[in-house]
Amino acid sequence: MITRSIRFRMALWYAGLLAGALFLFGAATYLGLERYLQKSLEETLSKQARSIGETLVIAIGQSGEDYVVNEINEHYAPEINGRLIRVTRADGKQIFVSGRPRDGSFDPSLVPATVSLSGREFSHEVEMPDGHELLLHGLRFKASDGSQFLIEVGAPYNQIEGVLRGLLFTFALGLPLIVAVAIGGGYVLMRRALRPVDEIRQKAEQITSRSLSERLPVAHTGDELERLATALNNMIERLEESFHQINRFSADASHELRTPLTILHGELEALAGKERDVPDDIRDTIGSALEETQRLARIVESLLAISRLDAGEARVERGRLDLAELVRTTADQMRLLAEEKRISLNCDGTASVEVEGDPSRLKQVVVNLLDNAIKYTPDGGGSVSIHVIAQDGRAVLEIADTGLGISASDLPHIFDRFYRADKARSRQMGGAGLGLSIVRSICTAHDGQVTVSSTEGSGSRFRVELPLALN
Ligand code: ADP
Repeated sequence: MITRSIRFRMALWYAGLLAGALFLFGAATYLGLERYLQKSLEETLSKQARSIGETLVIAIGQSGEDYVVNEINEHYAPEINGRLIRVTRADGKQIFVSGRPRDGSFDPSLVPATVSLSGREFSHEVEMPDGHELLLHGLRFKASDGSQFLIEVGAPYNQIEGVLRGLLFTFALGLPLIVAVAIGGGYVLMRRALRPVDEIRQKAEQITSRSLSERLPVAHTGDELERLATALNNMIERLEESFHQINRFSADASHELRTPLTILHGELEALAGKERDVPDDIRDTIGSALEETQRLARIVESLLAISRLDAGEARVERGRLDLAELVRTTADQMRLLAEEKRISLNCDGTASVEVEGDPSRLKQVVVNLLDNAIKYTPDGGGSVSIHVIAQDGRAVLEIADTGLGISASDLPHIFDRFYRADKARSRQMGGAGLGLSIVRSICTAHDGQVTVSSTEGSGSRFRVELPLALN
């Protein structure tokens, strides 16, 4: 579980807030119920005390104490009802004390006599020696003959405690359960609500400068995520437009440079041919200017090729072709170049490997890779090997050499435009650092890819993968 995810943090906040709210609710209910139960018990006790006074004790002068005792036992049955009833005369003589209740919850003989409480009516809690508490309600009552009595009715407090304990037990069991269900439910709901974010992220990771025509998925829910996806799609559209403009500019600029370069080249050639009696140093200068214009022309051609590829024009001419055949003929054409440097060129595999693509662009891939392999393998003794096979539904072309290799620090950049590992050497060999960019652009335009593995000093292996032509 990712603890920094919005889902996890929201679930945690949610759980915390819910647990806090439920705790407050539980505490308020508990305290409220405790107060309510105590009040209603006090009221019941008070009613009983008053009723004993008004119906029995009031006429004690005429009916006699024994009558009152019998009547209380008969009508109020304190032992059965678990109550304490005590009637005490003003001189301290107890004329009635109920017996031990049937449930044995307290011993009436141990309840201390009430002495110092003032007021006509009062309630107080009495702690028994065994730790139990008794709620005792007292009523000072004057009989019709003028004699004073204290009528006390009590009930064990544990009746209330029992109810409260039950409530506490329900809370202790129920609240964690509610919180757990709410967290689980909340987590699942959050996951569902945030699923479009994952989809947007996955798609966004696939979009590169070469696939700007793609768009993020928009879930039509009318919520913030829909607005976010739409806003990002609008941004990608603006970026696509800007990229197109840049590509168009590069293509137009390269195209415009071609004509003056061709004229310049032609004029220099004419000059070199015409002037037979020009001094040698001027002839040399013209020769080197010619070389430079040729180099410039190659760079302009490469730039034009790259910008056209980026603009998606490379796929115009698509046909079915045998990649193995194309590689073989290209290798044969370049064999002379290898032989000049005494490098052996081995091309194996006779089976045809059919792909769909533009033959001249794919030939360019083979030429660029082979040219590099020969260029960066020192004279004499080295070898370049070429394999073309069909593997796991892909056409694979591998060109390996035993040349200089590429350092680990250069390796991630060699497909970048104008990147040359060793600038002086590459320039001297006529390179401008655009060959591999063209290879990559052509591969991408054919839904393929090019990768490289290399060890400095012992050679490089370039691997091109293209989709096989469908049958
Ligand atoms: P260049 O025109 O300079 O060859 P590329 O784009 O073809 O440009 O290659 C970029 C750089 O990658 C080269 O400058 C070179 O340093 C390195 N490189 C390419 N292919 C090889 C290879 N087969 N062996 C060693 N280095 C290579």
